[in-house]
Amino acid sequence: MKRCQFHVLQAGLCHHPAGMARRGAGLCPTEFPALAGLIIHPTEGPILFDTGYDPAFFAATRSMPERLYRWATPVQLKEGHAVADQLQRHGLKAEDVRHIVISHFHGDHIAGLHAFPAARLFCSRIGAAQLTSGSRFGRVRRGLLSTLAPAELHERAVYFEDMAATPLDDDMKPFEAGVDLLGDGSLLAVPLPGHCVGHWGLLVRDGDGRKTFLVGDAAWSSAAVRDNVPPPRITTALLGNTRSYRDTLHDLHLLGARNTEILLAPSHCPEIASLADPPA
Ligand SMILES: [Zn+2]
Repeated sequence: MKRCQFHVLQAGLCHHPAGMARRGAGLCPTEFPALAGLIIHPTEGPILFDTGYDPAFFAATRSMPERLYRWATPVQLKEGHAVADQLQRHGLKAEDVRHIVISHFHGDHIAGLHAFPAARLFCSRIGAAQLTSGSRFGRVRRGLLSTLAPAELHERAVYFEDMAATPLDDDMKPFEAGVDLLGDGSLLAVPLPGHCVGHWGLLVRDGDGRKTFLVGDAAWSSAAVRDNVPPPRITTALLGNTRSYRDTLHDLHLLGARNTEILLAPSHCPEIASLADPPA
């Protein structure tokens, strides 16, 4: 079993009412960090989990109807905070990144993909298909900005659905199976349905043997997992499937209660953002 180093990176943030992400939390505008993961694999080198925001997000939302996305969730991204810029602090260049694992194709997770034109993209086939399905307005409504995905996505993609399922360790129950992305047990993608079509998380085992489960948007915060409190139905129904979302959140809640050693890391959680390496 190969083990990795793992770093949390924050690439910008957005604002929206707290109650959109947690039932009963009110309308107060709240900051939601956009997090990505930098995984240093002992032989494959740097691997990213998602990319967070990037200047490309602003270009992709310049005109209507995509501009509605920017209005709905106003974004802040400071100079030098895009993931590609932050790699320098780790002595890395964008060209060094050979693999990117994409949890799902919402704009705040893939805006930085353009900076890594040589990377192999591990992602969901049905998730990728959403980028070209339905109307342009319908895609924006579902959080998809198609121009942020590379035109040659299909050629560079390795689809989770095409890989053989492998059983997870007992300490991951109630999650039973995932796919072993590199074939060495270091990175296991796990389906986490509900937030949107083709939503997956990534289980990483670091050098100390500690497991980090990057759960993407299957939960908006660590507190939501601990308390098993989902977003309101209006949010989950708009983006995905409410029943599946709540089942997945409940499974994460059970996992966290049974396995207190694992770090469950939602992509927009302030507690996880506090672990992020400070941008240069
Ligand atoms: Zn999302």
